[in-house]
Amino acid sequence: MKRIVIKVGTAVLTEDNNIAKERMLNLVTLIVMLKKKYDVILVTSGAVAAGYSILKLDKRKQIGKKALAATGQPILMTSYKKKFDIYDITTAQILLTEDDFDSRKRTKMFQEIIDAHLENDILPIVNENDITSTPEQLFGDNDQLSANVAYATNAELLVILSDIDGYYDKNPQEFKDAKLYKTINELPENVLNDTSTANNEFATGGIVTKLKAADFLIKREKRMFLCNGFDLSAAKSFLLEGKHTLGTLFE
Ligand code: ADP
Repeated sequence: MKRIVIKVGTAVLTEDNNIAKERMLNLVTLIVMLKKKYDVILVTSGAVAAGYSILKLDKRKQIGKKALAATGQPILMTSYKKKFDIYDITTAQILLTEDDFDSRKRTKMFQEIIDAHLENDILPIVNENDITSTPEQLFGDNDQLSANVAYATNAELLVILSDIDGYYDKNPQEFKDAKLYKTINELPENVLNDTSTANNEFATGGIVTKLKAADFLIKREKRMFLCNGFDLSAAKSFLLEGKHTLGTLFE
């Protein structure tokens, strides 16, 4: 089966500092459908925000953020597990850092772990291990992590689910006349170095990290699809019916 990586961001997974359970259930239902056609690896954010739902620490401070991530990670996984249990799907937790992509030996190890999961019909759920790692060992956002996971596991496509319909010529949250790009084949340096910020208090990515992820994959002859994670219809038609309605395809 073809292999795909689905990455879901904080903007989609959380609402008012809590896990957005209905949206998570919609995502789980989509993954259940996708699993009939693809081997799926899920990369998920949301641990820090989930931790904040019960522990009010300052997430801008390093220890605060780590303590929140450590508290939130099991909450996040429990939420997923409850939903995947409905469909009899077993999940596995894989926590990675940038170091895991440093050497062939380490990459090979987690590749083999993920292969073993997929062969046994277990859904690997990946997140960045920002609990004990130093800032140098971290990607800092799951966009880059998911692109590296997609490449290292030889997935043919990375799907990023965010709070927008795709990549626009300017920020759609600020400009009503922003135009959506349908396909992008190349990303110029100035676009990749733009310092636009993320729009959510717990999000660390923003559009630039998504574009960097896309650039990384395009250069390695892989594809990335950026689409809406609130309304999953664009993801559904692209992945299940092969129809590109909304969403931006980077290839
Ligand atoms: P996530 O939590 O899903 O990773 P982010 O908040 O990090 O999402 O990134 C998505 C946000 O990037 C959008 O909500 C939007 O405000 C912002 N953004 C800035 N410029 C653009 C652009 N040109 N096209 C699309 N989104 C943009």
